[in-house]
Amino acid sequence: MYTFTKGFEKFERAKKVIPKGIYGHLGTAVHWPVECFPPFSEKAEGAYFWDADGNKYLDFMCAYGPNVLGYADPDVDKAGIEEIKKGNTITRPSTVMVDFAEKLVSTTAMADWAFFAKNGGDVTSLAVMVARAATGRKKVILVNGGYHGVAPWAQKKGANEGAWEKEQSNNIYLDWNDVGQVEKAIADNKGEIACFLSTPYHHPAFGSQAMPADGYWQKIRKLCTDNGIVLAIDDVRAGFRLSMTGSDNYFGFKADLLCYCKSIANGWPVSAIMGTDALRSACEDVFYTGSYWMQSSPFAAGIVCIDKLLKLDGPKYMQKIGKKYCDGLVELAKGYGYEMEVTGNPSMFNIILKQQPGQKNWSFFNEKDRALQIAWTAENSLKGVYLTNHHNHFINCAITEKDIDFALDVADQAFKAVKPKF
Ligand code: PMP
Repeated sequence: MYTFTKGFEKFERAKKVIPKGIYGHLGTAVHWPVECFPPFSEKAEGAYFWDADGNKYLDFMCAYGPNVLGYADPDVDKAGIEEIKKGNTITRPSTVMVDFAEKLVSTTAMADWAFFAKNGGDVTSLAVMVARAATGRKKVILVNGGYHGVAPWAQKKGANEGAWEKEQSNNIYLDWNDVGQVEKAIADNKGEIACFLSTPYHHPAFGSQAMPADGYWQKIRKLCTDNGIVLAIDDVRAGFRLSMTGSDNYFGFKADLLCYCKSIANGWPVSAIMGTDALRSACEDVFYTGSYWMQSSPFAAGIVCIDKLLKLDGPKYMQKIGKKYCDGLVELAKGYGYEMEVTGNPSMFNIILKQQPGQKNWSFFNEKDRALQIAWTAENSLKGVYLTNHHNHFINCAITEKDIDFALDVADQAFKAVKPKF
């Protein structure tokens, strides 16, 4: 059973010099019960990371997505480090920026151009700005429960300090998979909607994932085209885990803008918005930049990352490995009289553990309903498999079938540990 003495000593020091000690999605408040998860990491390699106390974890969070080939991939890191030695952040961008843009344009089906930034939120904000520049309209359709970053416009409506409602006043929030709501919003806001921005399938935190219904994207594509609305896909999380050609292509439609981030350079900091020729001049009209956005090392790392993913057929491999784990969990849960609900693509699966199989009114926000899931997830962490109890998980290409056997063995031990209480 793992303990975290050194980690929590450091956490006490952190709280004095860093707000919350650790903030945002890595904050201790969302990795709970706090005492069951390591606050800090020390190092990582392949499918594993080690915490500040030397405990080792098979990591199903993958840094929330960026770890797609395995931590510290030697080929990707070699390319990035060689590029760092050449100066890295220079007055004029390195030519490697062009090479990376060409690589992404050649792999992404919808794209004629690429524009680089650092984080996912940088490019989702740019998608909205480009759409507004192109259409001369203000309003944006978003899906309830979707996440597009932390810019004031993208904050959860009314829920987060520091963002004014006014900054979200041009957002129209609709339910996932509901074409009728989109038709009504377009009719009610005639000539005012600049953009429809959504993830390619629904992957909200604190809930199950949902695939697009048959024909959903084709209907949305047509509605956008017929009404002069820019269709922007937030592929920050799903990019390169469903397909190497863009998740719009995977679901059989063509987006106007596509946002990539997490998996494009295996942890080297870069994001990209991909666009069509029709939106090139609108993107040129928007002034948008950052001190480190044209830093060369992530571009060099990204080229190698994409080439390796292509060579391995990364998405296919991750889906196979993810399926093996999820199928195993479903079977194990049954053996203990529980139900493991698995949703989403296996490369970024979500799991919800239900004490009563088939329970329809199960609620994520009912502590009683979630108690089993929380306890079981914590047991996994204490035995060397890192999962969360509120967010989808991620597979990377370094996870082997043997690793999955280990993970299922730990899952079984975790079920045994919680069964007497539930
Ligand atoms: N969109 C989606 C779908 C995401 O999952 C995230 C990050 N979790 C973002 C946007 C924001 O990305 P970042 O945190 O890099 O700004």
